[in-house]
Amino acid sequence: LRTLRAVLCRLAPLGFVLALAVATDGCAPAPRPTEGANVVILMVDALRADRLGCYGHTAPTSPFVDTLAREGVLFERAFSAAPQTVPSALSLWSGVYPSRHGNLYFPTRDAFRMPGRRYRPRVPAGLPLMAELFAQHGYTTAAVMSNPWLRPEFGFARGFDHYVHLPRRRRPVPRGPQVNANALNLLGHVKGGRFLLYVHYMDVHNPYEPPAAYRDAFAGRLPGRYVYLNGPFPLVQPEDLAFTQALYDAGVRAVDDQIRDIGLMIRAHGLGPSTIVVVLSDHGDEFQEHGGLGHGWTLHEEMLHTPLVVVHPGLVPAGRRIATPVSHVDLLPTLLDLTGLPIPPGLDGVSLAPLLLGAEDEGDRPERALYAELGDGRAIRRGERKLIRMERNGTREEAYDLAADPGERRPVAERPPWVRALAAELAAFADAAVPLEPATADELPPPPDPHLEEQLRALGYVR
Ligand SMILES: [Zn+2]
Repeated sequence: LRTLRAVLCRLAPLGFVLALAVATDGCAPAPRPTEGANVVILMVDALRADRLGCYGHTAPTSPFVDTLAREGVLFERAFSAAPQTVPSALSLWSGVYPSRHGNLYFPTRDAFRMPGRRYRPRVPAGLPLMAELFAQHGYTTAAVMSNPWLRPEFGFARGFDHYVHLPRRRRPVPRGPQVNANALNLLGHVKGGRFLLYVHYMDVHNPYEPPAAYRDAFAGRLPGRYVYLNGPFPLVQPEDLAFTQALYDAGVRAVDDQIRDIGLMIRAHGLGPSTIVVVLSDHGDEFQEHGGLGHGWTLHEEMLHTPLVVVHPGLVPAGRRIATPVSHVDLLPTLLDLTGLPIPPGLDGVSLAPLLLGAEDEGDRPERALYAELGDGRAIRRGERKLIRMERNGTREEAYDLAADPGERRPVAERPPWVRALAAELAAFADAAVPLEPATADELPPPPDPHLEEQLRALGYVR
């Protein structure tokens, strides 16, 4: 029936609408159950999809997110547009890939050397952001930010009525309870009308320092030591890697408990039926799959494969798992579409609302190319085939057949036609990838203060 309805809906604009009016009761005129809904986005920085139970992890890291996945819809193949917070978050908020919003994170040829004082995030003035678009249509917009990059002076607060950027205390970043205290406070302020609430957690980000109870539960009896670094490092001992991963898992469980508190509060306020809740991350983290730890320096799956769970009682059927590969650039058009707001033209992303609302079957969607970018590197993915091109010390290309090699261990040795086709498509994407507004020297934001630089060093960004 869903397929029939989808076909009828596609025919409607072509003039068949009168003849089929009786049969097309599921088409556009019927209000979406998500129309006018509130939106709560719970962003867990640096959370790999595969460390959650609902994505196959065996450790008990995510009982509450697993419950959300059973109540809502889970995207099995969701990919960030970049393996670092700034380009990834801006792509999420704008629906365009990093080269178009102009933040590629490492603009130098030696892509892992921290550009330090030369690199500043920059939000182009003409780029409509999620908060602005919702605010223009009567939503109250609020955010709690714990990532030091996402500071208001860089432009990230644009469109938010309330933007709480938490200062550093003793730890390099604020923990979940402090984030939640602010989020719950904001929820109390905004809940009277329609609202967009964005909450950014750093509990999973390195350094992995979970609260003691979580650390004891996940890593208490393990030998080994914590290896803390962000970048290439081939010599981690197996027991140290296992211990480090256990600390990471402990952080995942800690943030799962924070998400539970937000979920319970939404229900306590009676907002469950009128709120779309999204759980996702901005990128993953590496555990030595490709010779390093942390994130922000390759375009492999452990960096790009992120969880994406969307919950609202109007999404059917509950517990659905969608296998179609989707990108973070799809989030903005999807949320606008679900809530009934207009989607601005020119976005790289497409709305996933028809999939989420059961108006379209996955098989009805044509396969499309998804991209990710990092400094001088780019990746393209079509279905289970992927090509990564890095321009470090010359051009290097690696292609992977993810169906046969999901861990990207063995680059395809030859160049079969599909590799050549992906290479050509990636080259065309790169040629067309022109920034919306090229930065000029006098437009760059002021340099950050020494405290910010110290905080970024503690998080492994500045060396
Ligand atoms: Zn991040």
